[in-house]
Amino acid sequence: MFIYKLDSQISNSFKAQAKIAKEAPYYQKLLKDIDPEDINDATTLTRIPFTDSRKLAENPYSFVPPLSQDKIEIVCSTTGYSGNPKYVFFTRRDLADQRRQAKFLLGALIRKKDKAIWGGVLGPQMGGTYIVNACAGLCPSLPISAYRISEIMSLLKKLDFNVLGLPFPFLLKLRQECENNNIDPKSFGLEKIIAGGLPLSARTEKTIEESFGAKVYDVYAMSEVGIIALKGECQKGYHLLSSNFVLPEIINKDNKTARQGELVLTYFNREGTQIIRYKTGDLVNLVNEDCFCKVNTPKIKLLGRSDDLLLIGYTNLLWDERLDAAIMGSGVKDYRVEVTRDKNGYDALTFYSLGKTNKENLVAAIKNINDDLHRQINNGLVKLGIVNVDKFKPALIGVKNKKVFDRRHKEES
Ligand SMILES: [Zn+2]
Repeated sequence: MFIYKLDSQISNSFKAQAKIAKEAPYYQKLLKDIDPEDINDATTLTRIPFTDSRKLAENPYSFVPPLSQDKIEIVCSTTGYSGNPKYVFFTRRDLADQRRQAKFLLGALIRKKDKAIWGGVLGPQMGGTYIVNACAGLCPSLPISAYRISEIMSLLKKLDFNVLGLPFPFLLKLRQECENNNIDPKSFGLEKIIAGGLPLSARTEKTIEESFGAKVYDVYAMSEVGIIALKGECQKGYHLLSSNFVLPEIINKDNKTARQGELVLTYFNREGTQIIRYKTGDLVNLVNEDCFCKVNTPKIKLLGRSDDLLLIGYTNLLWDERLDAAIMGSGVKDYRVEVTRDKNGYDALTFYSLGKTNKENLVAAIKNINDDLHRQINNGLVKLGIVNVDKFKPALIGVKNKKVFDRRHKEES
């Protein structure tokens, strides 16, 4: 069920982290029967229960050791979790570590002579910020809001950047903006594009590479834990952080193949919010292939989100009771949603609604629950369609009130 090596270095890191975590009220309860000194092998480790984003959202303060509270530098809030943001606390040392970890992975791709422009979704979300800061330590880097697409376009035209960092939906937007202005994106002379926010399928990645004439490297990060992995130069998967920073585990309920399952992470050396055996909700495959990359850590392939947790555009969206109630409250009798990718590469949500649905009400309900998703719909980064039907087509009848059907990976693989 699990895959990891628990050598003495890792078990020592784990012991040290578990000791710190035990000071935090949440883990005090969770680890009450476990002495961190006993965590020497896989069996003891597996006695530690899993934690997930719902628990973190319920009481974020309980994840922070009281002694760390006066050292907190930054509180990061994520809007992705529908209705219930997760608050994550970082001390100065934690932030320095985040940058160091991002630099460790990016260092394999970015050279001193590179010049980078980084369009980030700035504000409370932090995922991209670590990476921008890390890049600034590797080569001259200019950060800018990802929403300022026309400005990014004209900067790319005027100055000679060869690296562009931009969340995936904004890359599509930039390509569209170039098309509207009769500009060939190849004329920017870009060599490397660091994308993020959403696992790219091989097909979409290829179309982006072709239109920009540059290689795409995707970052896999989560706001609450930071950077996790980066697609390597080998293009054979995402290289994980080294075992100095993180312990990855892969769990699989069916135990069909042990190398494939949900990714679970433990972060080491953390002072603020403790991340111990944290379920990411991401399905991955641990690939065992040799490669020539400078970063020589294990590689994973991203297979999608598990259960009802979806990554749409760059938003983590949990399709839970609140979102469901808001949609039902907007006048819909019943609905199903299909998530697909349109021909231009944008994520598309199609609502199949029983009876008549008013698009304005639906959009207002989404805004009420998830402002981020609403903003993406408004900006055309996520397409929204409504189809009124008398009954659902068979493909939309699932098990146990399943309402959301993610077809993106099937279509594109
Ligand atoms: Zn590699």
